[in-house]
Amino acid sequence: MPSNKVRTRFAPSPTGYMHVGNLRTALYTYLMAKHEDGTFILRIEDTDQGRYVEGAVDVIYNTLRETGLLWDEGPDIGGPVGPYVQSERMGMFKQYAEQLVAEGKAYYCFCTEERLEALHAEQRAAGEMTHYDGCCRELPKEEVEKRLAAGEPYVIRQKIPREGVTGFDDVVYGHIEVNNSEMDDQILIKTDGMPTYNFANVVDDHLMGITHVIRGSEYLSSTPKYNLLYQAFGWDIPTYIHCPPVMKDAQNKLSKRNGDASYQDLVAKGYLTEAVLNYICLLGWSPRGEYAEQEIFSLPELVKIWSPEGISKSPAIFDPLKLRAI
Ligand code: GLU
Repeated sequence: MPSNKVRTRFAPSPTGYMHVGNLRTALYTYLMAKHEDGTFILRIEDTDQGRYVEGAVDVIYNTLRETGLLWDEGPDIGGPVGPYVQSERMGMFKQYAEQLVAEGKAYYCFCTEERLEALHAEQRAAGEMTHYDGCCRELPKEEVEKRLAAGEPYVIRQKIPREGVTGFDDVVYGHIEVNNSEMDDQILIKTDGMPTYNFANVVDDHLMGITHVIRGSEYLSSTPKYNLLYQAFGWDIPTYIHCPPVMKDAQNKLSKRNGDASYQDLVAKGYLTEAVLNYICLLGWSPRGEYAEQEIFSLPELVKIWSPEGISKSPAIFDPLKLRAI
């Protein structure tokens, strides 16, 4: 994308109701773009049909519309505003994986479920973590062609370097490093020809020119794998901003599946949108300098003073009583 402007995306999976933690991610993502006069896009990550919850996409649209966190563009930029929906883009991912195969950075893997199950059982019995053993990593080209021509089912895996480390810098969590030997040769394309969740996420972030990835800290551990993909393609790595979870209490995170603390519920209970946005913004983020003591902010004020450096590393507990006090 030929622009240096900040582009952020909110990329929810419609696997349940949107709770205030999800809304906070959307808010931070919006603020990051708007503070820099950039673009905020919405991408529905609905590729995992097994986890799809009926009605969840509408809740996402309605919540963003009602809170004023409006996304900037749809599939036809400049046309009627509408978000990107990953399930409508499924056909184009495979060619990217095949590009990596052609460059020797990925390979066709013909291992059957049965073989993998037996392998993992052996590894478990030996007290090892289950992992792929790289059986198809160096198959001769002629053999691969023969098996493809015979219509054998396959997945496409990325060759993860066996040695060295993969590190990245996160604005909130600092430098994080993982030994490459701890990572499996990740599957990019499944036997049905469709991309895995991680692969679609990275390819889409690149194609959509995303400069800042803002998401929950549960993705920190997958990020080295995402980075290895960026490196394999030679693409620019975005700035990562991982946010700690919003908790229901000291032990439990808010859960989409359980319908915890949804924006809709709060509004039904009489809370004002501005109060909810204000409260969740300050839940794990602190303004700096002259605004450090201020407690009430409008959305335009938040846009003006936003800085991701104010995000705290510690999880925050959502407390409706504190929200009531605003
Ligand atoms: N789709 C993910 C979710 O809903 C977010 C992934 C991301 O932002 O990279 O949790």
